[in-house]
Amino acid sequence: MSTMGDGTRAVRAGLPQPQQYEPTLPGPVFAAHYHLSGEPTGPYTYGRETNPTWTHLERAIGELEAPGERVETTVFASGMAAISAVLLSRARSGDIVVLPDDGYQALPLLRAQLEAYGVEVRTAPTGGDAQLAVLEGATLLWIETPSNPGLDVCDVRRLVEAAHAGGTLVAVDNTLATPLGQRPLELGADFSVASDTKGMTGHGDLLLGHVTCRDPELAAGVRHWRKIVGAIPGPMEAWLAHRALATLELRIERQCANALALAEALAGHQEVSGLRYPGLPTDPSHPNAARQMRRFGSVVSFVLADRGTAERFLDALKLVDDATSFGSVRSTAERRGRWGGDAVPEGFIRFSVGAENTDDLLADVAQALAAATGGN
Ligand SMILES: *Cc1c(COP(=O)(O)O)cnc(C)c1O
Repeated sequence: MSTMGDGTRAVRAGLPQPQQYEPTLPGPVFAAHYHLSGEPTGPYTYGRETNPTWTHLERAIGELEAPGERVETTVFASGMAAISAVLLSRARSGDIVVLPDDGYQALPLLRAQLEAYGVEVRTAPTGGDAQLAVLEGATLLWIETPSNPGLDVCDVRRLVEAAHAGGTLVAVDNTLATPLGQRPLELGADFSVASDTKGMTGHGDLLLGHVTCRDPELAAGVRHWRKIVGAIPGPMEAWLAHRALATLELRIERQCANALALAEALAGHQEVSGLRYPGLPTDPSHPNAARQMRRFGSVVSFVLADRGTAERFLDALKLVDDATSFGSVRSTAERRGRWGGDAVPEGFIRFSVGAENTDDLLADVAQALAAATGGN
């Protein structure tokens, strides 16, 4: 299987061996505890530690993260649960941790928590591989590429090489790319981490996260953390996520193609500035992205004149919901500045491109831009 195409691997990912009269993907197992006599050993003992529905999903994600390789995946109740599991389980008082300063908007909350535990936190931007300059003595480097919402891309191999030379572990937040867009472990990272709330599950109807590691000891630390804090996904969410993986390649192919088409259309538009899409050959992120990514993601960002223009644009869209998050089969867009956490202009739009037909989507965006900017 590991040499086959992404679509072939996605539809079969994590499925158990066929068994007469059993379904292809076994249904969710709802269990707080399992029948267990004698010594408490074996795969399934208590519901906070293990669940067969997670096991199937964890295998599936592992097969996509590192085809043909032996890796360990741990699923969590959300992306932040997965991120916190890596950072908080590893960090010790006196450690130095390097974060991006343009990453996901909840990272500053984690930074404050790490500092409260006596960890020194350094930050630098994703673009220009600027984190290289603050690596000295760090125990852990946290990378987010492409960054959200700025869509800068760093050279993961280069950062990993420098980090490992100094004994620094590397984690990559791979949420935006998904494993079909980028495989952090192949690029040398120690942890591939994601919010599967986004493109990985793609329907905007559940929260989930995961961490995949090659090193069993690192994986065991993450798993142990899940047991301690209990940030476990519900069986129904885990099952829905596994079901959604079957269409991951179909969804991502369409969404990435739509994103490129949208970026190309916006590039020629007078009222649009600050356009970013790593798949656009003229984008500053493109050289790094082309070297390490296999698909460029479904998020396009750009800037309209001011807050009013951005709000009129969002109001005028008919096929695109005004909502946060990204990666859904239904297009969404938002004025990112409304949250206050990101360093973006008032008219900054983060556009998550869905699986609609390309012409319909481009026509909707064109009419909304015309409506927002006075019709020219
Ligand atoms: C959404 C997101 C997260 C947080 O994920 P949740 O599932 O909402 O907890 C983390 N990192 C990135 C890049 C995200 O986009």
